[in-house]
Amino acid sequence: MRSLKEVLSIAKTSKVAIGHFNISDSTQFNAIVSAANEVDVPVLIGVSEGEKKFIGIQNAAALVRTAVDSGQEVYLNLDHGHSVTDCKDAIDAGFDSVMFDGSKLSFKENINKTKEVVEYARASGREVLVEGELGYIGSSSKMLDAVPEEVESAMTTVEQAREFVETTGVDILAPSVGNIHGMLKSSGNPKLDIERITQIRDALPDDIFMVLHGGSGISDSNFTESIEAGINIVHINTEIRRAYREGIESALKNDAEQIAPYKYINKGRDAVRAVVSARLKLFIKK
Ligand SMILES: [Zn+2]
Repeated sequence: MRSLKEVLSIAKTSKVAIGHFNISDSTQFNAIVSAANEVDVPVLIGVSEGEKKFIGIQNAAALVRTAVDSGQEVYLNLDHGHSVTDCKDAIDAGFDSVMFDGSKLSFKENINKTKEVVEYARASGREVLVEGELGYIGSSSKMLDAVPEEVESAMTTVEQAREFVETTGVDILAPSVGNIHGMLKSSGNPKLDIERITQIRDALPDDIFMVLHGGSGISDSNFTESIEAGINIVHINTEIRRAYREGIESALKNDAEQIAPYKYINKGRDAVRAVVSARLKLFIKK
């Protein structure tokens, strides 16, 4: 199987993006892997702190290992690790990549801690990629009433991006380019700053990848533009959380007496699979 770095390098050259989808259980995992299989693309599975606690770090790693053993190109990422210890645990558990989220720390502290994670990853004896986050993109995979205030004022600058990547040695950068976590209830999410993505991309070395967090709620054309401008990984979480819930809700509404989990959770699985499949097709569209 190709390493995550190889997969990302090819995606970068071909100007397509790899989809990153979060899971809390094995049903969502199966839905995502089945969609990736259908579209015939590699896929990244993410677990954030809450998700990791729920599913169990070893269980998440075991699910991915089993899929890999059966020939699927599935990779596992720690999404938004807020402590160095969290990242180290994920590296020890066999994750392919870890993200250290120091976006709430000072620039200097963010650099120091991210660097510590990079050093640990390099010493692991495996190829583990490290992602760092710069700038503010909010912190909830929820339905929101309004755009968080900090988002516009805390976009990543080219200078910061260059310095951060050089000093920390990260492989992947998550910049703030108008993206937010969560989805707005009323309208579409704010537009991405495509110009900023291009400028940051141009300022970074060739072997550095860029990830777009908060992909839920972004328009199809805005996605395509951002990928063309240099985004290599797109994170989708809120959309599939909503699809999972709505699928299960509608199954129970149609069959209120049903108690066999596989007769209503399967509708959640199908809804997740449909969303993931549509997103994956979009990410490879030229
Ligand atoms: Zn994120």
